[in-house]
Amino acid sequence: MNKLYFSALALLGSAAPALAQDLQSRMAVGYQLEATTTPITHRACGTMEVLQAQLAADPALAQRMARIEAQTQQLAANPTLQRTTAGTVIIPVVVHVLYNTAAQNISDAQVQSQIAVLNEDYQKLNSDYNKTPGIYAGLVANVGVQFVLARRDPAGLATTGVIHKQTKTSSWSTNDAVKNSKRGGDNAWDATKYLNLWACNLGQGLLGYAQFPGGSASTDGVVILYSAFGSRAKYAAGTYISSYDLGRTATHEVGHWLNLRHIWGDDNGACTGSDLVTDTPNQGAENYGCPAFPHVSCSNSGDMSMNYMDYVDDACMYMFSTGQSSRMNALFAPGGARVGILTSLGGTAPRPALAATTPVSFYPNPASERLTLALPAGASAARYTVQVFDLSGHAMSQARYDGRGQVQVTDLPKGLYYVAIGDGTETVRQRFEKQ
Ligand SMILES: [Zn+2]
Repeated sequence: MNKLYFSALALLGSAAPALAQDLQSRMAVGYQLEATTTPITHRACGTMEVLQAQLAADPALAQRMARIEAQTQQLAANPTLQRTTAGTVIIPVVVHVLYNTAAQNISDAQVQSQIAVLNEDYQKLNSDYNKTPGIYAGLVANVGVQFVLARRDPAGLATTGVIHKQTKTSSWSTNDAVKNSKRGGDNAWDATKYLNLWACNLGQGLLGYAQFPGGSASTDGVVILYSAFGSRAKYAAGTYISSYDLGRTATHEVGHWLNLRHIWGDDNGACTGSDLVTDTPNQGAENYGCPAFPHVSCSNSGDMSMNYMDYVDDACMYMFSTGQSSRMNALFAPGGARVGILTSLGGTAPRPALAATTPVSFYPNPASERLTLALPAGASAARYTVQVFDLSGHAMSQARYDGRGQVQVTDLPKGLYYVAIGDGTETVRQRFEKQ
């Protein structure tokens, strides 16, 4: 039995086994619990429960993850094959802030404080790493990845990398509704080019959950409780809960997104599980709070409880190991599961609009059924690409270019959109209204 179920069942007590079993099965398929204000009493991460549910729903996921694991292990055995990109991998980030109350609408400054923490923790720039006990001090790793808020959205338009969106949903669960605009959330940006972070009122007593590499693109990313997002030490005016107010929940969850397992191997203390990393000690179960070193389990020399992938408080986790760094970086090797990030333009500002120099436009505006391109004399409509995006940069599949100069927009919901018209060298973007 895994820990999330265990704690939920323990809360219910043994007097209601049928109810407990029902709850367990409902949680396994991702239903939202009714309890919306579960207090956070200790760190809890829903990642492994979500993985089990996804594996049950999609038999092919295990095969995709096995292929990623095989490549990861191959690279671990042959360090010279590891990523060839010199220096730091830059990961463009989009933060979807979903809010039901004003307090949940965390500010861009609080978001930026989170990005700053990620950059410190993943580049060994955090000042507290020197608290690492002597026997592990030589293993503290600079992972060599840098996080930047997106400056260019999937449509090629300028962006701050932060989306603030009001929602009627007062509390979210691990059912991924927060990643779906039709379910009150906000759709993921292209997961091969961006790290998607959702900050929201996550329930179930969870601080966050992530999806491992190999999962569905539409749900790829990390969900974090809004009040555990960002750092009080860097931006004191934000909204935080105590013990989880230094931004380490995101460090932990992004670790999962980069294929790290929990440091204890998710085996409930059996000493048989593994985190698939060789330089971390075998460890019985998770640690909470701020344990004194050494806490010995599985005959080790002391749990590596100060690792970001344990369950301790924010102030008491401050390092990744070299083996974990290699495991994460395997994703950026040729053929790696996140190699698309290396060619993402999301972190760089778009060039200025070229509309003034490119003689392409469309009419009518507003439109209800179709847009017609007004092309230069003699130009072939087939050589143009046309895409319609909403104002958040999501490509609208309901609008189709016929390759002959017309875009059908009949099925597009009413509202404001961008049309991007490209000729292979330049792209013109203009707003239009669907009526
Ligand atoms: Zn976790």
